[in-house]
Amino acid sequence: MDVVLIGGGIMSATLGTLLSELQPDWKIVVYERLEDVGLESSNAWNNAGTGHAALCELNYMPEGKDGTVDPAKAISINEQFQQSRQFWSSLVDEGVLDAPTTFINSAPHMTFVQGEKDVAYLKKRYEALSKEPLFAGIEFSDDSRVINQWAPLLMQKRKAGVPFAATRVAAGTDVDFGALTHQLFDNLKERGAEVVTNREVRGIRRRPDGTWRIKWRNSIGRTPGTTDARFVFVGAGGWAIKLLQSSGIPEIKGYGVFPIGGQWLKTTNPAIVAQHKAKVYSQASVGAPPMSVPHLDTRVVDGETSVLFGPFATFSPKFLKNGRLTDIVAQVRPHNLWPMIKVAIDNPSLITYLVGELLKNHAKKVDSLRTFMPTAKDEDWELIQAGQRAQVMKKDPKKGGVLQFGTEVVTGADGSIAGLLGASPGASTAVSIMLGLLKTCFPDQISEWEPRLRELIPSYGETLNTRPEVAEETLAETAETLALTS
Ligand SMILES: Cc1cc2nc3c(=O)[nH]c(=O)nc-3n(C[C@H](O)[C@H](O)[C@H](O)COP(=O)(O)OP(=O)(O)OC[C@H]3O[C@@H](n4cnc5c(N)ncnc54)[C@H](O)[C@@H]3O)c2cc1C
Repeated sequence: MDVVLIGGGIMSATLGTLLSELQPDWKIVVYERLEDVGLESSNAWNNAGTGHAALCELNYMPEGKDGTVDPAKAISINEQFQQSRQFWSSLVDEGVLDAPTTFINSAPHMTFVQGEKDVAYLKKRYEALSKEPLFAGIEFSDDSRVINQWAPLLMQKRKAGVPFAATRVAAGTDVDFGALTHQLFDNLKERGAEVVTNREVRGIRRRPDGTWRIKWRNSIGRTPGTTDARFVFVGAGGWAIKLLQSSGIPEIKGYGVFPIGGQWLKTTNPAIVAQHKAKVYSQASVGAPPMSVPHLDTRVVDGETSVLFGPFATFSPKFLKNGRLTDIVAQVRPHNLWPMIKVAIDNPSLITYLVGELLKNHAKKVDSLRTFMPTAKDEDWELIQAGQRAQVMKKDPKKGGVLQFGTEVVTGADGSIAGLLGASPGASTAVSIMLGLLKTCFPDQISEWEPRLRELIPSYGETLNTRPEVAEETLAETAETLALTS
């Protein structure tokens, strides 16, 4: 095989699609341990489906100690999402992806904060972002009548006294990454790639000639086998750490992962669903990791609209929803033990936050929802389990070990193996992550591939925010193709 992709999630689907576009003669195989692709984090209900473009998530633009706000990180996340939008638009145009509403829908992105300090911060953030071309159209209001038009559930029966404010960007999106994953794999199969489900990769070994031997076992019949490949991508989600460790590459030394699960409150009550057409993010509670910021979201999955609130953190030692109870212990090696202990010592507020979350029963969870939606009733909301996030812990020369909330691609020195650790901003930036991986792992081919990459992603290699007219045109074009509000 030229390429083995381990794991049937959005990351392997995106890389496989890019490679099949750029090098149609390469033999690609995908191994997925479950009975279908897209059943772990990429499944629609295992994530929040936010098309993360930093339009509403405050953690991409925190207030500095001196009170200033720097939009650089927010702009960079938005640029990454624009690459995804362009890629998906091209695939819709080429008939690779189905009608856009099957995987992406408009959902205005809002931020809602309460208290004088947060209102002042949100205003500052709005003033900084409103000057940036990729955030054109952002609106701010501290007027209950305006916010009531944007998201009535936030305002109904809200008690007077605490100041509040909101921002809104109409061009936000809700993405069904599960549907997208399926469509991308269906297309890969049509192009001749093999997508094998019920096959678990058990280990990866380097062969004397520098290629890789992948050892696998079928879940049905438990028959073992091996496949040799020139290039391996470990897109195994939470289990990527195990497989990268088994490959013996020194680059994985010092890494560990910490699993944090999640739960959502979900309602399909038509009276509630009809009143909420937005994704509303707020501030994280003290100690909460950035991806645990609460949000009240419109979701469109399989043509059905619902409203979701969360996440509430849960704990399980498994690195995947369908992982093993031994996962957390099995990752321990002499090289990552101290970094992991240091993370535990240095993050007491995270531990306190997690314990607090675990102690919340259904009624307490609906109480949290009431800070967004004062009229929420316990009986309208059911609790559903989301996916597992395996957060990266890594060696740090100064602190010994740090907990990291982003994603990280770990690549072997010769570029013949790479894997993805971490989960945020995740699926939304799959295209940008995989473009980076292509550059690192295929330095001899990348310049030859550039013309096709520019056809698929016109802003490839350039930024949009620095070119206001191009940014406006690109946003409008992708909105039209993807049937989105621009
Ligand atoms: C609660 C939550 C909310 C999130 N919200 C958002 C959001 O709003 N927006 C966003 O953009 N991102 C979000 N994310 C992140 C996003 O879901 C992930 O970044 C993304 O889905 C990861 O895709 P993946 O392909 O790496 O992993 P996965 O989708 O987990 O796929 C990995 C696959 O590998 C398979 N596998 C594992 N080990 C093996 C093996 N040994 N052999 C064969 N197959 C194997 C698994 O079965 C699985 O199918 C969220 C994640 C969570 C958990």
